[in-house]
Amino acid sequence: MSMLQTVEVTCPQCAVTQKVNLWASVNVKVDPHLKDEVLEQRLNVFTCGEDGCDYRCPVDISVLYNDMDGKFCVQYVAKDDMKNPGYYRHLSKQGAVMIPQMALKMAEKTGGDYIARPHHVFSMKEMVLYILFRQFCDAYGQDVDQAPDDEADGA
Ligand SMILES: [Zn+2]
Repeated sequence: MSMLQTVEVTCPQCAVTQKVNLWASVNVKVDPHLKDEVLEQRLNVFTCGEDGCDYRCPVDISVLYNDMDGKFCVQYVAKDDMKNPGYYRHLSKQGAVMIPQMALKMAEKTGGDYIARPHHVFSMKEMVLYILFRQFCDAYGQDVDQAPDDEADGA
């Protein structure tokens, strides 16, 4: 599921208050159009809708990008969150996401346990690059079961 919050922002250029949609989480299987928003760096960007005003600026909030088909997720950590101890409530000392054991076991059965190991990035640009990298892996990478066996090491 994608998570949307709508907040009111007053445009610093024309002073008109308007609503802006901010995404804390995007599931690109459920909402494929949000993938383009991320790749074109339009996600969580305030764009003034007032006639004659062209003010745009990114709103810095943390975003989880979840690709259920690709079985990977990318967590962007906003600058404020990185310094906020509260942000680490659900993270282990090794940087993994703390998920209840029961839920994790169920997720493992369906191959969904990748959700506990997000790739963390610290800019939305880096998120775009990582998504592109995973697309190249998917296109040109090898199947895991074709990895060469380390027979000499067996015993
Ligand atoms: Zn404006």
